[in-house]
Amino acid sequence: MSLPLSLEFFPPKTPEGVEKLRAVRQKLYALEPEFCSVTFGAGGSTQEGTLDTVRDIVGEGRRGVPHLSCIGQTQESIRQRLSIYREAGVKRIVALRGDLPSGYGIGGEFRYASDLVAFIRGETGDHFKIAVAAYPETHPQARSPQADLDAFATKVRAGANMGITQYFFNADAYFHFVDELRRRGVELPVVPGIMPIATSTQLLRFSDSCGAEVPRWIRMRLESFGDDSASIKDFGADVVTAMCERLRAGGAPSLHFYTLNQAGPTLEVCRRLGLA
Ligand code: FAD
Repeated sequence: MSLPLSLEFFPPKTPEGVEKLRAVRQKLYALEPEFCSVTFGAGGSTQEGTLDTVRDIVGEGRRGVPHLSCIGQTQESIRQRLSIYREAGVKRIVALRGDLPSGYGIGGEFRYASDLVAFIRGETGDHFKIAVAAYPETHPQARSPQADLDAFATKVRAGANMGITQYFFNADAYFHFVDELRRRGVELPVVPGIMPIATSTQLLRFSDSCGAEVPRWIRMRLESFGDDSASIKDFGADVVTAMCERLRAGGAPSLHFYTLNQAGPTLEVCRRLGLA
């Protein structure tokens, strides 16, 4: 059974990185992604890189989808960015609150992603399809799981068309989250975000900071491999493929891969799933 998929990249910081990412994308286009999204750095570091990378993707004949975060932004700066994206042929946006680097404070004219979604709809009507972030294991700053589900529902009422989840390694958390949304009358597609496992230390550190739980047994197995990267990759592909199989069997509408700008780990999982 086939399953649509999408891919996520981050903007490279150097000309060499730009070239390398072009080559990575060419390999990943074999998967026929529905769209390719590009992250956006709140606080400024990668904002122009997002636009440049999206333009590259559109120039390659694919759907380029910029992430847009609103923290620290003014209505005017968002208005300008929306207009640039429209001119660049962009039809879809991932709308986020974002996280400012420490020391930046809050600032700006938007508080939550729902404010950004409402603003985009008010300014551009139905031009953009809007995706928003979803947290099956609950956003780390949420008052409670219920409050976080309500916050997601608010983004949907403001005009979002789909959710993309933070990555997770526990399919039950995803199924439970979707059930809870349906009980609240929220029917839009929620696409699982999939993190292929390619390294151990980086994954464990990053997961701690973004609130994604790495189950104890996976953590212990990864740590036991030390720097044996072949075993980490093989075990990681096993774990992630098995989870994707469960998501597919349980009705996930598609899969969104956090590629980390690498082709190999995503291609390997897709090959095992019969999608490559
Ligand atoms: P929101 O939906 O605004 O939620 C933020 C917090 O506020 C949550 O705890 C929520 O429960 C709470 N909340 C929301 N509304 C209310 C309300 N009305 N009252 C009280 N509490 C409320 N970050 C980047 O900087 N750049 C990226 O490109 C990027 N891409 C991402 C892509 C995906 C698919 C995901 C899942 C995350 C991404 N992030 C990115 C991370 C994201 O910006 C952070 O997780 C951020 O902390 C929250 O963003 P959000 O859009 O979910 O915020």
